[in-house]
Amino acid sequence: MSKFWSPFVRDLEPYVPGEQPKMARLVKLNTNEHPLAPSPKVIEAIRAAADERLRLYPDPDATELKDAIATYYGVDTDQVFVGNGSDEVLAHIFFGLFKQDRPLLFPDITYSFYKVYCGLYDIDYRPVSLDDDLAIDPADYSAPNGGIIFPNPNAPTGRLLPLDAIESILNANPDSVVVVDEAYVDFGGDTAIALVNRYPNLLVTQTLSKSRALAGARIGFAVGDVALIEGLERIKNSFNSYPLDRLAIAAGKAAFEDEDWFQRGRELVIEERETLRRALDGLGFEVLPSAANFLFCRHPGHAGAKLAGALREQGIIVRHFGKPERIQDYLRITVGRPDQNRALLEALQQFL
Ligand SMILES: *Cc1c(COP(=O)(O)O)cnc(C)c1O
Repeated sequence: MSKFWSPFVRDLEPYVPGEQPKMARLVKLNTNEHPLAPSPKVIEAIRAAADERLRLYPDPDATELKDAIATYYGVDTDQVFVGNGSDEVLAHIFFGLFKQDRPLLFPDITYSFYKVYCGLYDIDYRPVSLDDDLAIDPADYSAPNGGIIFPNPNAPTGRLLPLDAIESILNANPDSVVVVDEAYVDFGGDTAIALVNRYPNLLVTQTLSKSRALAGARIGFAVGDVALIEGLERIKNSFNSYPLDRLAIAAGKAAFEDEDWFQRGRELVIEERETLRRALDGLGFEVLPSAANFLFCRHPGHAGAKLAGALREQGIIVRHFGKPERIQDYLRITVGRPDQNRALLEALQQFL
């Protein structure tokens, strides 16, 4: 607290990211990073971009990256917006599209940054309860609103909505922007980018942090109708003209050009997820169906905080959310490398 702060800073409740521990040799399964190193072609592209040109500002439009994304998804370049991680893309979406008279709707159990952005930009919102199975029910998204956002698959549950459920939300809300945050879609879902040319109110966000193993490079993007993208560009160009540096632009472009690495990485994660799911099941955990690179689970005999604490003592970090109460006994476990997943299972077996 300081007298120098703007008045509203006192009341902000900032997002608390998953811990990035400094200790070596931890089994880190708490922030949904990819278990593999990024594509060697990405590293090579970063090396090739690290030269005297760093003297110059990067392309403010990151055109090469937008072109690569547009080509990959079969849309036009002016339907693509890029930012410094999808968190920044989301920030511009909240300020540029969701600051409306009516409240924003999002699930009560979801990515906790949404609430933080509502606080930052003074946006009214209404949490919509997940159903008894911790799933999103599209029928619950028909109240008057100034926008709708949800991750698909949802975080931290991992549950996936099929595209026809998303279409029903879009059809019920033709006058609202519906944002589908697809941070994890590559691990088991169909992207709603396939729908953007039919729904001018649909905006899809994705990140290179999870399925392309580039959390450290900070690259996210949105795809949607040209008019929505134009609104976001207006915000971005009133905030930071150069959100992506030269190295990130080169890395992102190379990532979309190495389909082989991408497919192998996804397959590994999906396979490991299913192996881990079966093993947790065998240990007595209730595991929600997951289309993401993490599993959300609880053990009927043990409190979530206890389990997370016991794992930590063994040098294994998973994510545990104290709130809301409904999920306080759940652990969100990132699917790691096979050796990491084995270490997790051994530690759990010992504890149980
Ligand atoms: C990880 C995550 C993001 C943010 O990704 P960055 O691109 O790393 O900022 C956004 N939404 C959800 C649901 C996430 O899990």
